[in-house]
Amino acid sequence: MNYRNFNNRVTGVEVGYYFICHTKLWLFHHNIQMEREHENVKIGKQLHEERYPRVKKELNIRNKMKLDFIERDGELIVHEIKKSNKMEKSHFFQMYFYLDYLEKHNVEATGEIHYPLLNKKKSIKLDENKKTKLHKTINKIKKIVSEKFPNPERKNICKKCAYEEFCFGTET
Ligand code: SF4
Repeated sequence: MNYRNFNNRVTGVEVGYYFICHTKLWLFHHNIQMEREHENVKIGKQLHEERYPRVKKELNIRNKMKLDFIERDGELIVHEIKKSNKMEKSHFFQMYFYLDYLEKHNVEATGEIHYPLLNKKKSIKLDENKKTKLHKTINKIKKIVSEKFPNPERKNICKKCAYEEFCFGTET
């Protein structure tokens, strides 16, 4: 594989993966994608349909990102629904990415991350400090995906990761 032959465009999902696992980030970026089939993703979709049936509006951005949103008091609010808050930093930065992307296209929005199983909600607003951190993170992601495959290192989250078999074979 030519490691330098990579797509320079970073997505919101990849920003989230940066804070979870660099191997996962690299695999996803290089189109080795297994998440769609994974049980966790199915549970997430089910949660959305059951708990938020009215949040049906979807922003499709260049077929790259699909964001759920609602309008409240004339304000656009992007929604993300997550199963647990264990990866909160990853969720926050993914939302910063979406808000920054929208702002660059002259769309003002704020974010809400919902944790329905915990009855929690986090409201997210972008500011200059968060933007600076986000842009530094994007540069680090570009470096990671342009370099060679980062060897997997087993950690707690591996057992819930769709790539576990890819990374470790049948090892448990
Ligand atoms: S199985 Fe573990 S090391 Fe492999 S991509 Fe998933 S989280 Fe990363």
